[in-house]
Amino acid sequence: VGEGDDEGGEEYLFKIVIIGDSAVGKSNLLSRYARNEFNMHSKATIGVEFQTQCLEIDSKEVKAQIWDTAGQERFRAVTSAYYRGAVGALIVYDISRRTTFDSVGRWLDELKTHCDTTVAMMLVGNKCDLENIRAVSVEEGKSLAEAEGLFFMETSALDSTNVKTAFEMVIREIYNNVS
Ligand code: GDP
Ligand code: MG
Repeated sequence: VGEGDDEGGEEYLFKIVIIGDSAVGKSNLLSRYARNEFNMHSKATIGVEFQTQCLEIDSKEVKAQIWDTAGQERFRAVTSAYYRGAVGALIVYDISRRTTFDSVGRWLDELKTHCDTTVAMMLVGNKCDLENIRAVSVEEGKSLAEAEGLFFMETSALDSTNVKTAFEMVIREIYNNVS
Protein backbone atom coordinates (compact mmCIF):
# COMPACT_ATOMS: atom_id res chain seq x y z
CA VAL A 1 0.00 0.00 0.00
CA GLY A 2 1.54 3.24 -1.13
CA GLU A 3 1.68 6.26 1.05
CA GLY A 4 -1.69 7.97 1.08
CA ASP A 5 -3.40 5.02 -0.60
CA ASP A 6 -4.94 3.58 2.54
CA GLU A 7 -8.69 4.03 2.92
CA GLY A 8 -8.82 5.72 -0.46
CA GLY A 9 -7.40 8.93 1.01
CA GLU A 10 -5.53 11.11 -1.45
CA GLU A 11 -2.88 13.58 -0.50
CA TYR A 12 -1.96 16.82 -2.16
CA LEU A 13 1.18 18.90 -1.80
CA PHE A 14 1.02 22.46 -3.12
CA LYS A 15 3.94 24.85 -3.32
CA ILE A 16 2.99 28.47 -2.72
CA VAL A 17 5.39 31.42 -2.95
CA ILE A 18 5.13 34.82 -1.27
CA ILE A 19 6.61 37.70 -3.26
CA GLY A 20 6.67 41.48 -3.05
CA ASP A 21 9.05 44.27 -2.06
CA SER A 22 11.18 44.19 1.04
CA ALA A 23 9.44 44.91 4.38
CA VAL A 24 5.86 44.63 3.12
CA GLY A 25 5.27 41.93 5.73
CA LYS A 26 5.77 38.67 3.80
CA SER A 27 7.59 36.86 6.61
CA ASN A 28 5.09 38.03 9.20
CA LEU A 29 2.12 36.95 7.10
CA LEU A 30 3.64 33.48 6.96
CA SER A 31 4.51 33.34 10.67
CA ARG A 32 1.04 34.62 11.55
CA TYR A 33 -0.58 31.95 9.40
CA ALA A 34 1.68 29.02 10.26
CA ARG A 35 2.50 29.73 13.92
CA ASN A 36 0.20 32.59 14.96
CA GLU A 37 3.28 34.70 15.63
CA PHE A 38 4.12 38.31 14.83
CA ASN A 39 7.46 40.08 15.14
CA MET A 40 7.59 43.86 15.29
CA HIS A 41 11.35 43.94 14.60
CA SER A 42 11.74 41.07 12.18
CA LYS A 43 14.97 40.89 10.27
CA ALA A 44 15.43 39.04 7.01
CA THR A 45 14.50 35.42 7.57
CA ILE A 46 17.47 33.24 8.34
CA GLY A 47 17.41 29.56 7.58
CA VAL A 48 13.71 28.94 7.18
CA GLU A 49 12.86 28.31 3.55
CA PHE A 50 9.26 27.25 3.90
CA GLN A 51 6.55 26.26 6.35
CA THR A 52 4.07 23.49 5.82
CA GLN A 53 0.41 23.81 6.76
CA CYS A 54 -2.10 20.97 6.49
CA LEU A 55 -5.79 21.29 5.89
CA GLU A 56 -8.62 19.09 4.82
CA ILE A 57 -10.64 19.77 1.67
CA ASP A 58 -13.34 17.31 0.50
CA SER A 59 -11.96 14.90 3.12
CA LYS A 60 -8.59 14.94 1.37
CA GLU A 61 -5.40 15.90 3.13
CA VAL A 62 -3.90 19.00 1.57
CA LYS A 63 -0.42 20.16 2.49
CA ALA A 64 0.56 23.69 1.59
CA GLN A 65 4.29 24.25 1.46
CA ILE A 66 4.60 28.03 1.72
CA TRP A 67 7.90 29.59 0.74
CA ASP A 68 9.42 32.79 2.08
CA THR A 69 12.13 34.71 0.22
CA ALA A 70 14.66 34.93 3.08
CA GLY A 71 15.24 38.58 2.17
CA GLN A 72 16.69 37.99 -1.31
CA GLU A 73 14.13 40.41 -2.80
CA ARG A 74 16.19 43.28 -1.41
CA PHE A 75 18.85 42.46 -4.01
CA ARG A 76 16.35 41.68 -6.75
CA ALA A 77 17.80 38.21 -6.74
CA VAL A 78 14.88 35.91 -6.11
CA THR A 79 16.09 32.84 -7.95
CA SER A 80 14.24 30.62 -10.37
CA ALA A 81 14.57 27.78 -7.82
CA TYR A 82 12.28 29.79 -5.57
CA TYR A 83 9.51 29.77 -8.17
CA ARG A 84 10.07 26.24 -9.46
CA GLY A 85 6.97 24.09 -9.11
CA ALA A 86 4.86 26.84 -7.54
CA VAL A 87 1.13 26.48 -8.12
CA GLY A 88 0.08 29.41 -5.97
CA ALA A 89 1.40 32.88 -5.16
CA LEU A 90 0.67 35.78 -2.85
CA ILE A 91 1.87 39.08 -4.29
CA VAL A 92 2.15 41.42 -1.33
CA TYR A 93 2.36 45.20 -1.06
CA ASP A 94 2.14 47.54 1.94
CA ILE A 95 -0.96 49.78 1.88
CA SER A 96 1.05 52.53 3.62
CA ARG A 97 3.86 52.60 1.01
CA ARG A 98 2.91 53.53 -2.53
CA THR A 99 6.20 52.32 -4.08
CA THR A 100 5.45 48.75 -2.98
CA PHE A 101 2.15 48.90 -4.90
CA ASP A 102 3.95 50.31 -7.95
CA SER A 103 6.23 47.24 -7.88
CA VAL A 104 3.38 44.74 -8.19
CA GLY A 105 3.56 44.69 -11.99
CA ARG A 106 7.24 43.81 -11.92
CA TRP A 107 6.61 40.95 -9.46
CA LEU A 108 3.81 39.64 -11.66
CA ASP A 109 6.12 39.70 -14.70
CA GLU A 110 8.75 37.78 -12.78
CA LEU A 111 6.19 35.24 -11.62
CA LYS A 112 4.91 34.72 -15.17
CA THR A 113 8.47 34.34 -16.49
CA HIS A 114 9.25 31.56 -14.03
CA CYS A 115 5.97 29.66 -13.81
CA ASP A 116 4.40 28.00 -16.82
CA THR A 117 1.57 26.08 -15.18
CA THR A 118 -1.65 27.59 -13.88
CA VAL A 119 -0.82 29.58 -10.76
CA ALA A 120 -3.52 30.67 -8.30
CA MET A 121 -2.64 34.25 -7.50
CA MET A 122 -3.79 36.65 -4.82
CA LEU A 123 -2.90 40.31 -4.57
CA VAL A 124 -2.47 41.15 -0.89
CA GLY A 125 -2.54 44.67 0.51
CA ASN A 126 -0.92 44.11 3.91
CA LYS A 127 -0.76 46.36 7.00
CA CYS A 128 -4.42 47.39 6.75
CA ASP A 129 -4.16 48.24 10.45
CA LEU A 130 -2.25 51.36 9.33
CA GLU A 131 -5.44 53.06 8.10
CA ASN A 132 -4.25 56.48 9.36
CA ILE A 133 -1.26 56.47 6.99
CA ARG A 134 -2.89 54.61 4.10
CA ALA A 135 -1.29 55.47 0.73
CA VAL A 136 -3.13 53.01 -1.55
CA SER A 137 -6.93 52.88 -1.54
CA VAL A 138 -8.90 49.64 -1.39
CA GLU A 139 -10.40 50.50 -4.80
CA GLU A 140 -6.96 50.78 -6.42
CA GLY A 141 -6.00 47.37 -5.08
CA LYS A 142 -9.27 45.87 -6.25
CA SER A 143 -9.09 47.29 -9.75
CA LEU A 144 -5.47 46.22 -10.28
CA ALA A 145 -6.42 42.71 -9.16
CA GLU A 146 -9.41 42.69 -11.50
CA ALA A 147 -7.33 43.89 -14.44
CA GLU A 148 -4.72 41.18 -13.83
CA GLY A 149 -7.16 38.40 -12.97
CA LEU A 150 -6.04 37.99 -9.37
CA PHE A 151 -7.93 37.50 -6.15
CA PHE A 152 -7.63 40.47 -3.82
CA MET A 153 -7.60 40.91 -0.08
CA GLU A 154 -6.34 43.43 2.44
CA THR A 155 -4.68 41.85 5.45
CA SER A 156 -2.90 42.66 8.68
CA ALA A 157 -0.26 40.29 9.99
CA LEU A 158 -0.23 42.51 13.09
CA ASP A 159 -3.89 42.10 14.10
CA SER A 160 -4.52 38.91 12.04
CA THR A 161 -7.18 40.43 9.74
CA ASN A 162 -7.84 38.12 6.75
CA VAL A 163 -4.51 36.29 7.03
CA LYS A 164 -5.98 32.80 7.28
CA THR A 165 -8.66 33.67 4.71
CA ALA A 166 -6.08 34.88 2.17
CA PHE A 167 -3.90 31.76 2.38
CA GLU A 168 -6.86 29.40 2.40
CA MET A 169 -8.51 31.05 -0.59
CA VAL A 170 -5.32 30.44 -2.58
CA ILE A 171 -5.05 26.85 -1.35
CA ARG A 172 -8.69 26.13 -2.25
CA GLU A 173 -8.26 27.68 -5.68
CA ILE A 174 -5.22 25.48 -6.34
CA TYR A 175 -7.23 22.47 -5.24
CA ASN A 176 -10.02 23.46 -7.66
CA ASN A 177 -7.44 23.84 -10.43
CA VAL A 178 -6.00 20.34 -9.97
CA SER A 179 -8.96 18.22 -8.86
P1 GDP B 1 9.22 41.18 4.58
O1 GDP B 1 10.54 41.84 4.32
O2 GDP B 1 8.28 41.41 3.45
O3 GDP B 1 9.35 39.73 4.96
O4 GDP B 1 8.55 41.94 5.83
P2 GDP B 1 8.55 41.54 7.39
O5 GDP B 1 7.55 40.47 7.64
O6 GDP B 1 9.94 41.29 7.84
O7 GDP B 1 7.97 42.88 8.02
C1 GDP B 1 8.63 44.13 7.86
C2 GDP B 1 8.20 45.07 8.97
O8 GDP B 1 6.81 45.36 8.86
C3 GDP B 1 8.42 44.50 10.39
O9 GDP B 1 8.81 45.55 11.24
C4 GDP B 1 7.03 44.01 10.77
O10 GDP B 1 6.84 44.03 12.16
C5 GDP B 1 6.12 45.01 10.05
N1 GDP B 1 4.81 44.44 9.68
C6 GDP B 1 4.58 43.28 9.01
N2 GDP B 1 3.27 43.08 8.84
C7 GDP B 1 2.64 44.13 9.40
C8 GDP B 1 1.27 44.51 9.53
O11 GDP B 1 0.33 43.83 9.10
N3 GDP B 1 1.02 45.70 10.15
C9 GDP B 1 2.01 46.49 10.66
N4 GDP B 1 1.67 47.62 11.27
N5 GDP B 1 3.31 46.17 10.55
C10 GDP B 1 3.63 45.00 9.93
MG1 MG C 1 11.04 38.53 4.96
